[in-house]
Amino acid sequence: CGICGVVGLRHATPIVFEGLRRLEYRGYDSAGIATLANGRVERRRAAGKLDNLAHVLEENPLPGTTGIGHTRWATHGAPTTCNAHPHSTERVAIVHNGIIENFETLRRELEAVGQVFHTETDSETIALMVDYHLAQGLGPKEAALKTLQRLEGAYAIAMIFAGHEGLMIGARHNAPLAVGYGDGEMFLGSDSLALAPLTRRITYMDDGDCVVITPAGAEFMTFDGTPVTRKEQTTALVA
Ligand code: GLU
Repeated sequence: CGICGVVGLRHATPIVFEGLRRLEYRGYDSAGIATLANGRVERRRAAGKLDNLAHVLEENPLPGTTGIGHTRWATHGAPTTCNAHPHSTERVAIVHNGIIENFETLRRELEAVGQVFHTETDSETIALMVDYHLAQGLGPKEAALKTLQRLEGAYAIAMIFAGHEGLMIGARHNAPLAVGYGDGEMFLGSDSLALAPLTRRITYMDDGDCVVITPAGAEFMTFDGTPVTRKEQTTALVA
């Protein structure tokens, strides 16, 4: 239901967690965060309140400067820890807001080529499709675009990739997503409220936009990879 992500200089987990706090108003039933720790995808998830996730993180800290987080409002699959986002493989972690309408078709296709599902969610198809393309030798951007071309429904997505510190890919189709500009760091969030304490410099993505984010900036493109220009705005001060 809510997405927050960061690439840059600082420990990602507290920044992402604070963003999730600011998205609590949307409602949610579980939450989770994934980061790259020494290049590897690591994640922590918890059913219920963000306090539960905070407890898990206390017991098991999540290092790394590249991270994505999610508050989930379950549509497909019970609100359990197992179904909570991020969904991940050893190659990629993703968070998703919305619904992938054609997930059953995609799931069957992926199972037919040997991908193994661990959840009941529509969202896991995204992780396993990107993972499949990465395993075939595609780079993160190519794997993401190839996957986005297949997804039907409403979605805002954020992804991070093992071995690609400082890289985050976002996509938007009928669900809001905004890119935030920092100083040597960049952010992704469901809305400007999530990003308010971090930056006032924001680009609201258009439907059908993919964005490749690094600490140096953001490159926007359509799902077929055609570069597009999106305006940066300065949001009003939010208390
Ligand atoms: N459909 C996804 C799920 O049930 C995402 C729900 C959401 O937007 O939080 O996991």
